[in-house]
Amino acid sequence: MKKILVTGGAGFIGSHLVKRLVEEGNEVIVLDILLRGNKIERDVFKSIEFVKGDVKNRDLVNKLVKGCDQVYHFAAVLGVDVVADNPVETMDTEVIGMQNITESALSHDVEKVIYASTSGIYGHSAMQQSVTETIQVDPRTSYAIAKRYNEIYLAAQNEEKGLNSISLRFFNVYGPSQDSRMVIPRFFEQALADDDITVFGNGKQTRDFTYIDDTIKACLMLADKVSGSEIFNIANENEMTIDQLAQEIKKVTNSKSKIEYVQAPKKRYDYEVERRFGSSDKLFNAIGYKPNTDLNTGLNVILKNLKQNA
Ligand code: UDP
Repeated sequence: MKKILVTGGAGFIGSHLVKRLVEEGNEVIVLDILLRGNKIERDVFKSIEFVKGDVKNRDLVNKLVKGCDQVYHFAAVLGVDVVADNPVETMDTEVIGMQNITESALSHDVEKVIYASTSGIYGHSAMQQSVTETIQVDPRTSYAIAKRYNEIYLAAQNEEKGLNSISLRFFNVYGPSQDSRMVIPRFFEQALADDDITVFGNGKQTRDFTYIDDTIKACLMLADKVSGSEIFNIANENEMTIDQLAQEIKKVTNSKSKIEYVQAPKKRYDYEVERRFGSSDKLFNAIGYKPNTDLNTGLNVILKNLKQNA
């Protein structure tokens, strides 16, 4: 059993992580500002300590980190549209939040910081091939730039002061309880209402959708096994077009929706990436596991969950 702080623990990935950590018998503290509500299940919520607050609050972070064995730092401003509208807050949350986490982790001898980075830092690097951790990155958004900055900062903190850390480059994680800032819940909403499914552009842009349970499993195994300061892709290694995704969601929901090809909102233009798909080889070499849930299975779990909560 460990004592673990999860920042951003009320969000989509965070809440699934918190559930697993509690199931495994850990003592969990969640720090979350609740910008998007609380996604932690009621039963799980009863077994944790919840603190509403901001990772930019240095004293608060320091108080909560004290006595913890590990810190999962998952709090972030995210969503393409939200980030485009709030670049300064996005970067402040990343940079100040990370300073607070590393400073207190070092002063309280935390064994490891596990950080939610992003595959967004590859930008247009994935045009020809699936990306590995060693290729030249190409961050363009305030979000991706700050995430890359933090990866480098963590590496420096390891070199200079011995802080252990893992940066996780997530590839379009999806699953139950995600909100409609992201494409999969958005398409579900449209499909279930028999509204048009709005594919941006020609729908030929690709992503590598990675199921939440696989993502969490990989995080927990890495946190146990890896030391030093390392970066890992968490990718499903299955490149698919947004057009295919729309067809698949239409099929899974048995929807009468039409698939409409519409121009993306203007603020997305600068951020659109034509291809993004990752290699999880490094992950597999480290833990003997990599994400393997196929999209159809994942989408059916989401559908079941939506029906249960309807
Ligand atoms: N997308 C779309 N229709 C929507 C929302 C998103 O076609 O209503 C596309 C978007 O253009 C992008 C992909 O879905 O190519 C994934 O978008 P999301 O915002 O989920 O994440 P991103 O990978 O862009 O960070």
